[in-house]
Amino acid sequence: MLNKSLDLDKAYGEPANGSSSIVSHRHPNPLPPLQDRHGRTFDYVRIAVIEQCNLRCTYCMPEEGVKFKEKDMVLRSEEIIKVVEVLARMGVRKVRFTGGEPLVRNDIVDLVAQSVQTPGVKAVHMTTNGLLFPKYARDLREAGLFGVNISLDSLTEEKFEQITRRPGLDKVLESIDLAVELGFPRVKINVVLMRGFNEDELIDFCEITKDKPVTVRFIEFMPFDAHQIWETGQHFASAADLCGQIEKNYSDTGINAASGTRTEHHIYQVPGYAGKIAVIPAFTRSLCGNCSRIRVTADGSIMNCLYSEVPYQLKDLMRNGGSDDDIVGLFRKAFDDKHKDGFESKKAASVAAKINVSDISRSRSSMTQIGG
Ligand code: SF4
Repeated sequence: MLNKSLDLDKAYGEPANGSSSIVSHRHPNPLPPLQDRHGRTFDYVRIAVIEQCNLRCTYCMPEEGVKFKEKDMVLRSEEIIKVVEVLARMGVRKVRFTGGEPLVRNDIVDLVAQSVQTPGVKAVHMTTNGLLFPKYARDLREAGLFGVNISLDSLTEEKFEQITRRPGLDKVLESIDLAVELGFPRVKINVVLMRGFNEDELIDFCEITKDKPVTVRFIEFMPFDAHQIWETGQHFASAADLCGQIEKNYSDTGINAASGTRTEHHIYQVPGYAGKIAVIPAFTRSLCGNCSRIRVTADGSIMNCLYSEVPYQLKDLMRNGGSDDDIVGLFRKAFDDKHKDGFESKKAASVAAKINVSDISRSRSSMTQIGG
């Protein structure tokens, strides 16, 4: 397996507004960075802005959906911007809006614009399923959105509908081309790779990078599917296995290690290809040593790890008059408690569940309740 190089500029991207002039992204009134007891610094926040989605992917939620939070339980736009402002003072440079599907939230363009203008923020990104992207793409680019990750798990209409329970492959493919055409500096395709379903399309997805300047990211299947298919134990394909298949397929032409973000633990580029191929061990969790991610759920909980089940109630704190210092304090508490890796987080959660601590219940069985 090839070792990648980490290019921080690539990790954060050029200046948020995409202009050529390098502007300092140091906050004018910085606070000490957000760190944990394991020496890691957290400078990347993923904010889920909604739980609702216009798809029903089998690796995320059932056809009937999940018990979505009521509107008043979801962070308001001023609360989201407050979180971005406070985190930017603590050294957060990268903001990603996720969901559910962020484009079904009607103030999303404004959230992007305000975050781009927040002192200290270097780049704002979004993860979308691409169905509504053509409608908002130009406004998002004008608002300064820097990177867009578009989720796509099959290149055949039949399998696309099988996995998302909705039509729309053509819309998603159109969105990928539009994102490149409009000059978003980072365009990526997120593929949840599942054995016995789309594993046979692995190389077809890799070949997209031949002519398109995009990064195709294969993400390991994870146990956040609202108890649908994970427990069958039939669909997990490991990052190591996928890397082996990719390297074998390109053994004649050769394939080089490339630079990428901290999440893109294994990243390649085929010589002469315009784009890159990444493999993300999200379940294998071999990337935890490099973890830099903060998660804020749509209902305003801080998650210090994808596998943690300890909610730090940010929304309640803010709605009960919590000051900026109180918000800072809660983030520091959450990350001071952070375990060294996702396995320990999971173990701690199971132990807590066993002793049945009331406020630690697996209330987030679907990825749409976490934000990816
Ligand atoms: S599993 Fe947890 S610790 Fe590991 S990379 Fe993911 S969020 Fe970070």
